[in-house]
Amino acid sequence: MLQQTQVKTVLPYFKNFLLHFPSLKSLSRSNERKVLKLWEGLGYYRRARNLLMTARILVNEHKSKLPKKIADIKKLPGIGDYTANALLAFIHNQPTIAIDGNVKRVFSRIVNKSENKIDFNKLIEINKNSLFTTKRNSDFVEALMEFGALICKPKEPECFKCTIKNNCKYFKSNKKLEQIKRIQPKEKNYNIFCYIDKTKNKIALTKQHDLGFLNKFYLPIIKETNFKDKIKNWNFHSNFKNSISNKKLNINLYYRFSSKLPLQTQWFSLKENNEFIPSFTKKIFKQILEIN
Ligand code: SF4
Repeated sequence: MLQQTQVKTVLPYFKNFLLHFPSLKSLSRSNERKVLKLWEGLGYYRRARNLLMTARILVNEHKSKLPKKIADIKKLPGIGDYTANALLAFIHNQPTIAIDGNVKRVFSRIVNKSENKIDFNKLIEINKNSLFTTKRNSDFVEALMEFGALICKPKEPECFKCTIKNNCKYFKSNKKLEQIKRIQPKEKNYNIFCYIDKTKNKIALTKQHDLGFLNKFYLPIIKETNFKDKIKNWNFHSNFKNSISNKKLNINLYYRFSSKLPLQTQWFSLKENNEFIPSFTKKIFKQILEIN
């Protein structure tokens, strides 16, 4: 849950999730629909699917335990290098480091070299004897991440209170390296077309839309556009911006009243559904319900 999401947002979801799934076994026996429903509003829904698949694999193939070899951990759905190393350190206390943005920044400042000029795995391997000097590697890995977040911060590192400043080339150097500017995702334009059955308070949703990264979910009809085409026979509702899963969307929302269901769509209630509905779609429901 914490991948790409802040702790304060995650906490109520996590507590509720544990109430429903107090053990790995109970999660492994659940179905995707229930897991997604509990995840509703957290976004990045692939994480929920991967978690369910991972729970099933661990229960069925690994006696409900996390494997101890990195290669076996990386075979689990959605687990790449970073998460595999974090799991090895946190759960098995192994001498390894999960290299996230914070850790990269700390290391790159210590050697005063740009992140893109550093082979972090090699750097860790060369320095392993001085890095892994504790039996509490899980604490060390977490402390390193926290150190990057709280002391060696992206904009103004607190060097004067830093306990390792005497070993830090950034601190000592007159020519300090600058942080790499992260490339912001480019905004894309979309038209959203909502067919609404007003008497029944329903909306037509489909999985055939232009938001590829949400292609397993029900959304209104969505078309990528350059906004140059004139839209006829539709009522313009509003223009708004939305960010989902690292994508920036600029949206023109249109609606039309109709009791006829368009091809490849299904009616969904605008008020309550047992089916999982992404929060992006729910935001549109809210706007549509405001139409008199
Ligand atoms: S001295 Fe400053 S730049 Fe170096 S590790 Fe400490 S906080 Fe980061």
